[in-house]
Amino acid sequence: MRYLPARVEAGLNFASIGSFGGHFGMLPAVAPERTLIVVGAGPKALAIAAKRHVLRQLGWRVPKILVIEKDEIAANWCGRFGFTDGHQHLGTPPHKDIGFPYDSVCWTGFEAAVNGYMFNLSWQNYLIAQGGYAKWVDRGRPAPLHGEWGRYLQWVAQKVDVFVEIACAKKISIREGKWRVQCSKEGEKKTSFEGDGIVITGLGASSPPINKRHPRVMNGLTFWQNIESFRGFKGTVAIVGGGETAASIAVALVQAVSPSAIVQIFTSHASIYSRGESFFENQRYTDPHDWTDLTIADREQFIDRTDRGVFSVHANSVLDRAENVRPMLGKATKIESVAEALVLHVEYAGSQRKFAVDRLIWATGFNPLWFVKLLDESSCAPLVEAFSDDNRRSTSRRITSDLSVAAFTPKLHIPMLANTSQGPGFPNLSCLGLLSDRILESYATAPVSRPKSMRDTPWSAVQSARE
Ligand SMILES: Cc1cc2nc3c(=O)[nH]c(=O)nc-3n(C[C@H](O)[C@H](O)[C@H](O)COP(=O)(O)OP(=O)(O)OC[C@H]3O[C@@H](n4cnc5c(N)ncnc54)[C@H](O)[C@@H]3O)c2cc1C
Repeated sequence: MRYLPARVEAGLNFASIGSFGGHFGMLPAVAPERTLIVVGAGPKALAIAAKRHVLRQLGWRVPKILVIEKDEIAANWCGRFGFTDGHQHLGTPPHKDIGFPYDSVCWTGFEAAVNGYMFNLSWQNYLIAQGGYAKWVDRGRPAPLHGEWGRYLQWVAQKVDVFVEIACAKKISIREGKWRVQCSKEGEKKTSFEGDGIVITGLGASSPPINKRHPRVMNGLTFWQNIESFRGFKGTVAIVGGGETAASIAVALVQAVSPSAIVQIFTSHASIYSRGESFFENQRYTDPHDWTDLTIADREQFIDRTDRGVFSVHANSVLDRAENVRPMLGKATKIESVAEALVLHVEYAGSQRKFAVDRLIWATGFNPLWFVKLLDESSCAPLVEAFSDDNRRSTSRRITSDLSVAAFTPKLHIPMLANTSQGPGFPNLSCLGLLSDRILESYATAPVSRPKSMRDTPWSAVQSARE
């Protein structure tokens, strides 16, 4: 059953109606149900909605979750809205799904039940539901394509019956201690939603340093919308960037262009580095319990060496075999359009060089602060100041354990900025189960009676996830 979110139109607040069925135990008398708004219906929103669903089935009082999504559930994975063509392989193993690491510790007395029931919404259970599990195991558990991963996320959304409003968030303000998100929808009048907390997900595309738009200059979003134009291409393509955005574009390019084309990859490092994918690296992403024991300098060095400026092992293995790929040294500073050519300005060790290329892809990563432009300058003035050029670094170092901005209410959760302060896995897919625990913990209230064992929890909880 779906519920309607608190919708605010012309100053009227329509109360929510309906809810999920099935409670375990009695709920204590507490304050009215709260609403948590999530902007973007990607893996983070689904991880939060799934955990909320399981907790509710176990009798917890949980907030309503309202997801605001401009395109469709898992839009950034399906290939129709940029970021990928849907045919690239997921870098992270798919069993690091919306419940991973299945090791909740904060739902006192309910942890085993929460972990167990979350597993009903796992990647493996999705494959079982599709009839493809045994084949996936026999094939050596291959990485799925982004499009398939998107379909898994859409399956989770169906199972947990989350309310998703398809509309674009245009303005975020604070009114009477609550968040208000103003949205627009094609052909409809503007709508607003109110929430007690807000979670911002996703990333914005970075802009290339060129005076005006050029059809042969693309970024990490628009490249995927133009990938067909590279089939059989014979010229020189420059990719600027040394991280995973550049890596996945380089892999797609060498598969699309003619063998006579040249693919240049510009980075300011001596080499294209790869991450090790060792247990010691991976465990910090899965379990950041001692992350804050490290100095800030050590945390940032770890992120640089394992995430920010590195290609995945898979990407490097493809590029190692491609004879037309050239690593290029230098920091790209400017792009000029001169007659038919594009000229890339590059700086290294104080000297400047110029390179003429036919096409250029600015793949320097994505912008986690994309939402700042939506903040209302008057009601959100302290936040606008906190994210100004001068302060954003210190603000992101002060993200608290529930992944929200320190000392600010109503809560603004920004997992995309929480890597330095809380753990390297929060911006990505490495610990979505832990992310949902951290965010939901302060919004959920335990029932009075507790299950003595998982056997005491209602069968409907298992059923609802399996059906
Ligand atoms: C194609 C792709 C592959 C990746 N591969 C990996 C990987 O293998 N491993 C890994 O760890 N990380 C990977 N990442 C990086 C990172 O994990 C993800 O960016 C992040 O975890 C995505 O999850 P999310 O829920 O934050 O947002 P997303 O899935 O990016 O979802 C954000 C959503 O917000 C919506 N949106 C944007 N603006 C608005 C607005 N104004 N109003 C309403 N909705 C809006 C978008 O349409 C989108 O659906 C990948 C990212 C992408 C895009």
